[in-house]
Amino acid sequence: MKTRSFFAVLAATLALIANPASAETDDHDAPRWSIAIHGGAGTIARDQMTPEKEAEYEAALQAALDAGKKVLAEGGSAMDAVKAAVIPMEDSPLFNAGRGAVFTWEGRNELDASIMDGRDRSAGAVTGVTTIKNPILLADKVRTDSPHVFLMGEGAEEFASGQGLETAGPEWFETESRKRSLERMKAEELSALDVDLKFGTVGAVALDQDGNLAAGTSTGGMTGKRWGRIGDAPVIGAGTYADNRSCAVSATGWGEYFIRVGVAQEICTRLRFGRMIDFEALINTLSEVVSDEALAEDYDPSDLPAYFASEKVAQNAADNVMAEVKELGGDGGIILVTPNGHTVFSFNTSGMYRGRANSEGLNEVAVFGGAETGEPSATPDH
Ligand code: ASP
Repeated sequence: MKTRSFFAVLAATLALIANPASAETDDHDAPRWSIAIHGGAGTIARDQMTPEKEAEYEAALQAALDAGKKVLAEGGSAMDAVKAAVIPMEDSPLFNAGRGAVFTWEGRNELDASIMDGRDRSAGAVTGVTTIKNPILLADKVRTDSPHVFLMGEGAEEFASGQGLETAGPEWFETESRKRSLERMKAEELSALDVDLKFGTVGAVALDQDGNLAAGTSTGGMTGKRWGRIGDAPVIGAGTYADNRSCAVSATGWGEYFIRVGVAQEICTRLRFGRMIDFEALINTLSEVVSDEALAEDYDPSDLPAYFASEKVAQNAADNVMAEVKELGGDGGIILVTPNGHTVFSFNTSGMYRGRANSEGLNEVAVFGGAETGEPSATPDH
């Protein structure tokens, strides 16, 4: 090992790490806009899914994706794209949000939603609302028209009444299959996971043509929730987070674990710092450089930011945080978009209703895990 080269390389790299401003990347292949959506993760078994049902879910996901794509392709904002994508899923009885929300222990539908703008990290969230057709729009009104971030129950409804949002009676939110889940849960003394097998929360993340990120999440929570239980979906930092410096994330899963890990913000924070410090990559790069004197001469630490801004690093950060959720006993998944337009899915369940698209022609919707076996996507590297 050439000691002098090693120290030169190390010093140059540390200088880069200490100066985040120089860590800008210039990714010429980056899409101009990107979007990813989810409609919940969980035990989605191939043998329990009829082709008709799968087609129905895929069509609903594609409709949501199309609504978000249209906004972005026309130059609209990431915030508008997120709302446009979430609304059709809130209006569909297939997903556990808005119309298809699960029932509380008392037999009500109580809705949670949150939204965040990566430009200025302004955020809005509501929990326990019962009359608002599209809670994602109310969350955004909290962001834009109130001095607060998070409103609950009656107070949130009172605030909503002056905002011109569409309301609906309880019958709009009551779906037979969700009611049967609650009845079964009570009769057979089951947990929410036993009766639902999957989480149906919906969410979207987007990068717009101006380089801004946004994330939004909407849910009915978990079947049989009681005592005013609030999950992760409306909690900024747990179920939703967006920061132009790192990423935008929307989560679905067993909310208690996502709150404990602070999943959405944890991933974004890792990416923000990971753009400068990914120790494994750093050590690999440094050892490659120092073992080759010619390379060491040419070594340019400004090459590192491109690696730290890559899709691989984003996937690793997401998988590693989801592995922490798993280690604690929780499950679920996330969608993510980076400032370079990389879209990432990570879930430790056998499936996640999901979709993604970008300005370069990418368009896909999927239900099951990557492997035919239904293996989860998250394969943490430590
Ligand atoms: N995360 C949601 C909650 O815990 C449930 C879901 O994802 O469907 O309330």
